[in-house]
Amino acid sequence: MLTCLVSALVAINGGLFIANRVELSSQQTMSSERCDIINCEEFERKLVEAEEARKAAARGFIYLTFDDGPGEFTAELLDILVENSIKATFFVTMRGDDALITRMFNEGHAVGVHTASHRYDLVYKNAAAYWADAGMVAERITRLTGETPNLLRFPGGSSNTVSRKYDDGAKVMSILTAEAGALGYTYFDWNVDSKDAGGARTTEEVVANVTSALNHDGDFVVLQHDIKDYSVRAVAEIIEYGFSNGYYFDRLSVNSFTAHHRVNN
Ligand code: ZN
Repeated sequence: MLTCLVSALVAINGGLFIANRVELSSQQTMSSERCDIINCEEFERKLVEAEEARKAAARGFIYLTFDDGPGEFTAELLDILVENSIKATFFVTMRGDDALITRMFNEGHAVGVHTASHRYDLVYKNAAAYWADAGMVAERITRLTGETPNLLRFPGGSSNTVSRKYDDGAKVMSILTAEAGALGYTYFDWNVDSKDAGGARTTEEVVANVTSALNHDGDFVVLQHDIKDYSVRAVAEIIEYGFSNGYYFDRLSVNSFTAHHRVNN
């Protein structure tokens, strides 16, 4: 059994599939004596099939995304994600321990670029300024994971209007959103705002803001921040709600729903 589970985890990190609260039936559970290589392959195949069936039957996908970390609550969040066997997406900065980014990657989560400084006055002066800032984060991710990141979230989202204050009329968000693809990035906004960056100040409010938006079939990109303890502590309940309402949790990839906003500058 141990060998099979280890093998299944390797398959996860190799990108074969993303586990999503895999529950094995007694038929799928294998004894340690039977867990030779051939049986492990069979075991993995069954896991993949069960996972694909779960995906196909889902009423929609939920992509949990966390910006501005890693930080002091990221390890707690990663534990919650492991306990529920789901994958999420982190749009990281230069803060926090390197080991947390390595852990995100090793546990199968998507790691994308957010911003190094998170200072709107600096990054939105012009496009070159943001790409230089983002490039530092991209280098950090590459150094820690061995992979060049291709997912990105603009500070404040692509619809932000705060950039108007700093770009001298250049419509910097129009430029950045147009340039992202050529630089190898798919950018993501969100269509569910937990409001944990303003408005929501408690775990209960974060849970309510997210679950009330999950009220129809479809795909959802949820915005949260793993530097907020009360938001991290909302995640278990959000996951429970998603599972009991027939959604499938996945990490973002270049082919996922992007939840793009309308660019306003
Ligand atoms: Zn941010």
